[in-house]
Formats: sequence, structure tokens, C-alpha cells
Amino acid sequence: MKTDTVMTDKAEIQCPACSADAVYKNGRIKTGKQRYLCLMCSRQFTMGTRKPMVQGKPVCPECGKPMNVYKLEGNVIRFRCSGYPVCKTFKKYFLKEEA
Ligand SMILES: [Zn+2]
Ligand SMILES: [Zn+2]
Repeated sequence: MKTDTVMTDKAEIQCPACSADAVYKNGRIKTGKQRYLCLMCSRQFTMGTRKPMVQGKPVCPECGKPMNVYKLEGNVIRFRCSGYPVCKTFKKYFLKEEA
């Protein structure tokens, strides 16, 4: 499995050396980051620089604030600017049906 663009919030931890997902939490490093140990190749690594992508939260084109889900209708999501009611920007997104 080689997917670099997975954007789930439960990102699977994979060994950077051998891509195995058989990793084991192995304490923390000085800065408090989680350290992992690969059970396949015994490599230790951290995933601290990886920020989870927030998917499906567009930024308001008017004021730059994040937009929140306002309504879900079938496969249409409506977003409303988090600056509402000062900013009354709405956005409509169509969910893609993936076969
Ligand atoms: Zn490994
Ligand atoms: Zn706005």
C-alpha cells in the first residue's frame, strides 16, 4: 500500500524505512513527541512533523475565516463562514460518490 495523500484523521503510522504498519509505541522523545519502533526493521522514528489535514473545511473567500458545516442535504454540504453573522458567506459543496 503506497498512499501519500491519505487524509483521514486517523492516519496510520507507517515505518519510514520499510513502510510496515507494524509499529509499536516506544516512549517519547525529549520534546514530548511520540516515538515509534518498527517491529519489522527495528527502526525508531517519530511522526511529529506530520500535521493532520483538515479536510472539508474551506476558507471563506470574503474574510479568510474557516467555514463550518451548516447543513447537509443529501450529497450537498453547505458551509457557513465562522464569522457569521458579520460575514454572510455561504458555500455549497457536492460530495463525490466514489465507486
Ligand atoms: Zn520498518
Ligand atoms: Zn467570511
